[in-house]
Amino acid sequence: VTRVFSSEDRILVSHLKNILDAEGIRCDVRNEILSGAAGELAPIDTWPELWVTDNLKVDFAKDLIQSALKQFDEKMDDWQCQCGETIDGAMAICWHCGASAPN
Ligand SMILES: [Zn+2]
Repeated sequence: VTRVFSSEDRILVSHLKNILDAEGIRCDVRNEILSGAAGELAPIDTWPELWVTDNLKVDFAKDLIQSALKQFDEKMDDWQCQCGETIDGAMAICWHCGASAPN
C-alpha cells in the first residue's frame, strides 16, 4: 500500500480517487473524516491522503494523477481581474465588476 497523493483540498483528493477507480486501481482516501470533522485548519499530517492498494499499479496511478492535476491546474488557476480582484479559477466572470476572465 503506497501513498500517492496528499492535498489540503479534499475535493481534489476525491476527484483523483474517482479517476483511479475508473481505471480499476483500488485506492483509499485516508484522513478524510478527520479533516472534515475538525472544522478547523488542519496541519499537514491530517490532510486527506490517497493510498493505492495495489503496489503494482502505483506508477500507473501516479501518471494518472500527474495528468489529472495538469488538467485541474489549467482549469482552476485563479486569475487576476482588471479591477484588481483575484478570482477563483472556476469562475468565468469577476464577481466584483462582471468582467470576463482573460485568456
Ligand atoms: Zn473585476
